[in-house]
Amino acid sequence: MCLPAETAVLHAGYRRDPATKAVAVPIYQNTAYELDGDLSHIADVYNVKADGFTYTRIINPTTRALEKRYAAVDMGRDSLAVASGQAATFLAIVNLSSGDVGDNVVASPYLYGNTWNLLHNTLKRLGISVRTADPRRPETFERAIDDRTICLFGEVISNPCLIPLPVKQLAEIGRRYGVPLVVDNTTTPLVCRPADLGAAITTYSATKYISGHGTTLGGLIVDNGEFSYRGASRFPLFNRPDEAHGGIVWHNAVRDVGDLGKSEFLLKARMTWLRDTGAAIAPFASFQLIQGLETLPLRMKQHCANASIVANALKQHPKVRRVFYPGLFEGADREIVEQTLNTAYGYGAMVMFEVEDEQAGRKFIQNVELMYHVSNVGDARTLVTHPVSTTHTTVPREKREAAGIFGGSIRLCVGIEDVNDILRDLEKALSAI
Ligand SMILES: *Cc1c(COP(=O)(O)O)cnc(C)c1O
Repeated sequence: MCLPAETAVLHAGYRRDPATKAVAVPIYQNTAYELDGDLSHIADVYNVKADGFTYTRIINPTTRALEKRYAAVDMGRDSLAVASGQAATFLAIVNLSSGDVGDNVVASPYLYGNTWNLLHNTLKRLGISVRTADPRRPETFERAIDDRTICLFGEVISNPCLIPLPVKQLAEIGRRYGVPLVVDNTTTPLVCRPADLGAAITTYSATKYISGHGTTLGGLIVDNGEFSYRGASRFPLFNRPDEAHGGIVWHNAVRDVGDLGKSEFLLKARMTWLRDTGAAIAPFASFQLIQGLETLPLRMKQHCANASIVANALKQHPKVRRVFYPGLFEGADREIVEQTLNTAYGYGAMVMFEVEDEQAGRKFIQNVELMYHVSNVGDARTLVTHPVSTTHTTVPREKREAAGIFGGSIRLCVGIEDVNDILRDLEKALSAI
């Protein structure tokens, strides 16, 4: 059954606690589970032939409720919750690696800073290289693919520069070459449905809109279920006995019984990479993310509605030189946005705008009162940053300007307050310039 997201966030994956009938998902604050009963069944659980709980680094009932619920919300086959968004990106990519030096990822250059570092420095040190391609020219992704390409990667609406990814075209290119498209949908949950557009895997920093309150770190990996790793020479670890798990062949582990066996991709990620890196989410964090998720549709609609009003007001303002907001894009970027986002929700809640120069940017940021000067995303409160004096101070000027960040650039993550209060605060800070 496919529930609309508004219902799935409240009902999918969990009805009541079997022991107490508690309606809210309880926090199972435990590490281990008693292995009672039939020993051959217990062996089946360890061999992933049956569902069951073994150890919280690998699986936990509170976390499992979050995973099942988010998979339903995102119309995926299953999802895996991990310690942070960074852990989600890392595990999603290394889970595709062949295990030999020389794999490559074809990626957009417009990435969250820590993701850029993960790809260009850390994964490189592990023998996985990155080839940069231009999301405005999908053919550059196609040209970069070779027989060691393990995925195409990009952010749906990039943080912080808001460059849209042509998810549909890239998924189509990936399908032709047998290469999965992995997208980070952190900035537009529900506003973009990557499963509908053909992306194989979706990752999230659940720390942002899914948590929604700036309280909790977490990450999610969703297997959208359509991609087949079977027989592909670029994915040997999916197709030959995997010594990391007792010689299992992962596609043979797929089963209809229970729900853990639905996704070979996530079974393998959970039972090898999550097990061995220990990037597990704490049960309390999973509980917090469930609380956030239950009101995500309402918040997302309000975030988008406020952001649209704010972007349009900034566009009219004499002290604002330029405004970047997916709802105001024109030309080719507009087409990508219309194909990629469910515009009934809106266009996301991140707005970039430029005041005259770095000095004006500093003045602006020093005069905000209601908004928080915080380099985070997805808090219910409006957040504002001046990248040049914070996140991008150490990035060389040519490099940041190529990415669209200038001295006078200001990034807003519009919150769900009364929009008139946000507008008043913007006016106050702009008039101080
Ligand atoms: C914040 C963020 C991440 C990293 O998430 P954490 O939960 O902080 O580890 C990854 N991608 C994007 C787009 C982000 O905004």
